[in-house]
Amino acid sequence: MSTPHALIVGAGIGGLSAALTLARSGWRITLVEQTAEPSEVGAGLQISPNASRVLLSLGLGEALEACACHPLALEMRSAQNGRLLSRMPLGESMRQRYGAPYLHLHRADLHGVLLQAARELAQIECVFNARVILVEQNASRVSLCIANGRELQADLLIGADGIHSLVRATLFGAEHARFTGCVAWRGVIPASRLRDADIPRSAALWLGPGAHFVHYYLRRGELLNFVAVTECEGWEVESWTQKGEYRELFDEFGDWPAPVSRIIEAADPAACFKWALFDRPPMPQWSQGRVSLLGDACHPTLPFMAQGAAMAIEDAAVLASCLRRSAAIPGALLEYEQLRRARTAEIQNTSRDNKRRYHYRGAAAWARDLAMPALQGALARKLDALYGYDPLRV
Ligand SMILES: Cc1cc2nc3c(=O)[nH]c(=O)nc-3n(C[C@H](O)[C@H](O)[C@H](O)COP(=O)(O)OP(=O)(O)OC[C@H]3O[C@@H](n4cnc5c(N)ncnc54)[C@H](O)[C@@H]3O)c2cc1C
Repeated sequence: MSTPHALIVGAGIGGLSAALTLARSGWRITLVEQTAEPSEVGAGLQISPNASRVLLSLGLGEALEACACHPLALEMRSAQNGRLLSRMPLGESMRQRYGAPYLHLHRADLHGVLLQAARELAQIECVFNARVILVEQNASRVSLCIANGRELQADLLIGADGIHSLVRATLFGAEHARFTGCVAWRGVIPASRLRDADIPRSAALWLGPGAHFVHYYLRRGELLNFVAVTECEGWEVESWTQKGEYRELFDEFGDWPAPVSRIIEAADPAACFKWALFDRPPMPQWSQGRVSLLGDACHPTLPFMAQGAAMAIEDAAVLASCLRRSAAIPGALLEYEQLRRARTAEIQNTSRDNKRRYHYRGAAAWARDLAMPALQGALARKLDALYGYDPLRV
């Protein structure tokens, strides 16, 4: 029997993860990416044990260890008065409880580790600078067309082409992603600029009225990453990201308790990027015949559980095991989406609810803060379901 061949559209974290899991399951992969040298934006990413266990199984542990940061804890604080509302240990206790680490990574570092691993495998061919403009299938083959006119054929096609997925639109019709009413500023600051602020090596989530602020270290503590989220009426700019006005960021967060105010002061005004946050409601179907979707292409999620990339990595592991179990590709794809849809939908919906919870004002915020210590047990049980999930054994 000849080696089965898959086309993967998109070399983001999802597409690269899928290329690696499928290649290790005996597939030949052609990874097609529109950019000439795919890379990630200069910002941070939290990778929880449910996803890090997949990365470790791909043999990437050592490479990740060289660039990761291991946070000690996640601290939630009130932006009104700086009070600590809850503290959840991360670090070694995550490894002991879930058998895999909780990592903070620069996106470019994680992307670089995945890309390097893909380039080292002879079964993966990378076709970059190649925008896919057409996807078609019949009962036995799939094909795609690149903007330069080149056509590729294979047995299977996976659309890992992000929130504005062409593959998704081809299968289920074009539909705009919805603006969630939130924008996020993101920035990365050399930690040396903040030495006097004495910021612990933990992730911090500050809750304020109509806004929240997250910060954590990257690259073994050399960089500090921040994400500052506020609400906004509309988003007139067509592009996905734009250079943010530092003044707006300062006006919104400059008077928050230290160290948030110090982080805003230390941020480089020329390197603060503003992102409109979009999502989509959960999809009732991901696959048709020999074509399916993965990552943001099928479940774009607000980042308020830090799970979007983790879900894409989980998808990659489950997809590979479904294809290993079943010789019939359409059946394997149906099994894949059946195993994944409920979990990813719950995370999409909870992330949306977290926007409301994080941004309470007045009495609702007061009640939330008061109830927080009593909710620790319930939160720990939810995290067991989230972080204890093992996509390698689904
Ligand atoms: C502010 C913010 C913070 C976040 N924090 C976290 C976090 O801490 N933890 C976490 O797990 N997730 C987080 N996320 C979510 C995470 O970033 C995304 O879920 C993840 O990057 C999606 O990866 P992907 O590979 O599915 O899609 P993408 O990263 O969008 O990759 C899609 C790829 O497809 C390519 N492509 C698109 N169309 C075509 C085409 N027609 N032809 C060829 N190539 C194409 C693109 O160029 C791109 O390389 C965050 C998101 C935001 C906005």
